[in-house]
Amino acid sequence: MRILLVEDEPDLGTAIKWALKQERYIVDWAQDGREAWEFLQSPDLQYSLAIFDWMLPNVMGIELCQRLRLRQNRLPVLMLTARDRLQDRIAGLDAGADDYLVKPFEMEELLARLRALQRRSPDLQTQQIQFGSILLNYTERQVYCQQGERQVLISLTHKEFQLLEYFMSHPRQTVTKDQLLAQLWESGSDVGSNVVAAQVRLLRRKLAEQGCSDLIETLPSMGYRLNPDYC
Ligand code: CA
Repeated sequence: MRILLVEDEPDLGTAIKWALKQERYIVDWAQDGREAWEFLQSPDLQYSLAIFDWMLPNVMGIELCQRLRLRQNRLPVLMLTARDRLQDRIAGLDAGADDYLVKPFEMEELLARLRALQRRSPDLQTQQIQFGSILLNYTERQVYCQQGERQVLISLTHKEFQLLEYFMSHPRQTVTKDQLLAQLWESGSDVGSNVVAAQVRLLRRKLAEQGCSDLIETLPSMGYRLNPDYC
């Protein structure tokens, strides 16, 4: 799941980004409103959630929110702000923010609010996806393999989890390496498509250990897809 974090305070941005990455989100961090708007308009980036600070250089968080809603974009937005007057909270929600968190806050609360946004969003309500014997649980952020009556945990790294999540959310599609690179690696990260192939290999090895070696197919010179025979 990809999240756009817009926060201009370097220490806070660093701390939030770290916490989000521990929760296996893919995080793009913009430090001003204009950069955030460029991320939001990029056709290659699909965000599931956004965190906007209210006070930002160039374009304010509240304006980012208004611009999204004017374009009928329903991306769930959590606003961060030092403002705590009733009128400010009302203005934030009226601008189209889905929730509102006043600084300073505990990171645990931020993460809980994001999970709540995810549950409320019609596009993100799924708590679990299944493909054949593979179960991906969003609440626990873990993957299991169903073996008879038992569910066996497959211990994945963050990147392996994100990769499998992407495949499972696009079950009938052939996914190219470039697509995976754009969707699963942070914007501006200096990696090539051989990194994608290496990560797919690592993921396959973990799956093979649980007897699911043929889950991900390679389609020569096209990309990858989930093996339709596997279901
Ligand atoms: Ca700020």
